[in-house]
Amino acid sequence: MIPPGETIGILGGGQLGRMLALAAANLGYRCHVYAPEPESIAADVCAEFTCAGWHDLAALERFASQCAVVTYEFENVPVEPLAVVRAATRLQPHCKALEVAQDRVAEKSFVEPMGGRPAPWAPVADMAGLAIAIDTIGAPGILKTRRDGYDGKGQWRIMTPADIDNVPEIDRALVYEGLVRFEAEFSVLLVRGADGDVRFWDSPENRHNRGILARSTVPASPLIGSQIAEARALAGKIAAELDYVGVLAVEFFATEAGPVFNEMAPRVHNSGHWTIEGALTSQFENHIRAICGLPLGDCALAARGVVMDNLIGDDAHDWHQILSDPCNHLHLYGKAAVRPGRKMGHVTRLVL
Ligand code: AMP
Repeated sequence: MIPPGETIGILGGGQLGRMLALAAANLGYRCHVYAPEPESIAADVCAEFTCAGWHDLAALERFASQCAVVTYEFENVPVEPLAVVRAATRLQPHCKALEVAQDRVAEKSFVEPMGGRPAPWAPVADMAGLAIAIDTIGAPGILKTRRDGYDGKGQWRIMTPADIDNVPEIDRALVYEGLVRFEAEFSVLLVRGADGDVRFWDSPENRHNRGILARSTVPASPLIGSQIAEARALAGKIAAELDYVGVLAVEFFATEAGPVFNEMAPRVHNSGHWTIEGALTSQFENHIRAICGLPLGDCALAARGVVMDNLIGDDAHDWHQILSDPCNHLHLYGKAAVRPGRKMGHVTRLVL
């Protein structure tokens, strides 16, 4: 167990790190952020900040030696240099979770033997491979980068086989997926303690706009409700197989034929931001509790319902209007520049 007063290291300097650090501070921990970018909205609320590259082994070693445990808020941290972190201190969740989640092909291959059902998929290395994939799986479909894609970035929709002509030159490993005709999207959010104790939050229904999460609503629709048990069973198996410690998010499409696996995130997740006010214990607090070996908090809903809206780009300018409704809980991440498509904050409303 890592007692309050110790220092928690966070790899990554964005809003997830910021909210983790705020939760850690409430429990009496200090946080030390490690990120390559000199501006860090997580570091703004932390005791220590190391600004260094992911491959700077000396800096990583120095950082890790000052932390009782290190976690990550960003799943694309390169895995190889983390060996120096693991040699110096505890890394939670285990980096096997990063290895799986960083590569869409590894992720799909990992869940299939456990009974997970992704959309039909095929790895694509070049144009000839793409033509074969479209021929086999059919169109419409989505071509995605295997690595480093997020918020719908690195994706091309292929509505008919002729759309292959609009695909840019293939210079990275890709995966082609059949387009899922879903009724809705949802996520399973769980926390697993070091002792194997697993708890689930209510699953939010997630609405995306241009690939970016726009709104999470709890409780989800009855269709999703009927698929949660199967989805939770898969998420629980993933967590057990990875000997996972911390918060894990698994995203699904709710289809007429049941839940279709989309992707997993080995970290706190945007679709869990509603838990700050909407659950008895937030995802951020339970992640800190889990990685420090503390007893987990109750994940039960704290209201009849919850709606969380992301504030994307210019939405953040509406902060005054949002605050004029006393029932709104406003979270601004302190990002200096507003850019289209950038997550600037979120607002949560409880249905009491
Ligand atoms: P991703 O980054 O893979 O989660 O994709 C972002 C969003 O694009 C998802 O939340 C869906 O709304 C949509 N999307 C991604 N893959 C598919 C698919 N195979 N079929 C239908 N919609 C998809």
